[in-house]
Amino acid sequence: MKTNNAPVLVLDKVSKSYGQGMAVKDVSLSIRENEFFALLGPSGCGKSTLLRMLAGFETPTAGSIYLDGRDISPMPANQRPLNLMFQSYALFPNMNVRDNIAYGLEMERLPKDEIAQRVDAMLETAQLRDFARRRPDQLSGGQRQRVALARALIKRPRVLLLDEPLGALDKKLRGKMQLELKRLQHESGITFIMVTHDQEEALVMADRMAVLKDGEVSQCGSPNDIYENPRSRFVADFIGVSNLIEGQRISNDQVDAGGHRLKIEPTAALVSGNVALALRPERLQVLGGESPRCDNEVDGRVVEVAYHGLDTNLHVHTPVSSKPLIVRVPSSQHEFTTFTTGMPIRLGWNAQHARVLAC
Ligand code: ADP
Ligand code: MG
Repeated sequence: MKTNNAPVLVLDKVSKSYGQGMAVKDVSLSIRENEFFALLGPSGCGKSTLLRMLAGFETPTAGSIYLDGRDISPMPANQRPLNLMFQSYALFPNMNVRDNIAYGLEMERLPKDEIAQRVDAMLETAQLRDFARRRPDQLSGGQRQRVALARALIKRPRVLLLDEPLGALDKKLRGKMQLELKRLQHESGITFIMVTHDQEEALVMADRMAVLKDGEVSQCGSPNDIYENPRSRFVADFIGVSNLIEGQRISNDQVDAGGHRLKIEPTAALVSGNVALALRPERLQVLGGESPRCDNEVDGRVVEVAYHGLDTNLHVHTPVSSKPLIVRVPSSQHEFTTFTTGMPIRLGWNAQHARVLAC
């Protein structure tokens, strides 16, 4: 539903320090209309602090926050058209689902008819119609989650802020709720900013994401861009699995790794001296007699075989890296080969699939 890409929320060099420590450093971001935006990073990197500053529960030490072009830094939390959904759902235990959802509109003293109409529509959207008369303790975790979301969405905030909204759910339910949350965002047309430490969750859900490290934005982009073109070792390592091959750049299109010359894309941004090549496990191929030749080929030995059903991960010791390279082989591709520990193996990859990162 991205018809309009105007920025809704702009953060301009926002910082927050607590005494000596800087929780958020110089963060500049521009979040667009109708976007599902994720703030991703390890625990303690400043995600919640950033979200709390947007909501107005914390004051930035420096920088400004603009909503629809207006500086909202001096605006108190309860006047901001932003709604923060807490991880603990904070539903009213003695009210049924319907009343929980209606509460915010009743506080606004809207006409009864309008409240009833909007609550009905929201019960439908959040697939809660059958549970309207139940109390929160008569619901499952996933249903409670949907009530909390419905309660936040019904107020039609300009931006909905979500801090680890799925953190309390088990893995299977989490997967289901990820799709549900995305659908709700899409149908409501409201801009979502979601905090998560789970990279898979961010990749699945976000239109764009910012990867944070120690309070700073390491990289911002679409999930695909960040996965395919990590610009630092931190991002390459944090998002998905990356093999990092250390080496020295010896020419425009070559890197020396453990005495082996590896081809790289000549167009890769010029990084001289020590570099790391980031290579995704699915980009490495196991070469056999019939395989087409690759730009880079190395001989190795299997040190570990991990079967995952859909694919098998091989850990392969090679002379180009002190750490074994991880290779993902789809099950459909090795019906006739059984991989065993100690087996000699030849690996290949093409230059275009390795990202050259500064050390
Ligand atoms: P995240 O949500 O990414 O896990 P937080 O934003 O909660 O990280 O915290 C970022 C850093 O700021 C951490 O080092 C944390 O200890 C610190 N911090 C957060 N809130 C406070 C506070 N109220 N007082 C002092 N330090 C805080
Ligand atoms: Mg947090």
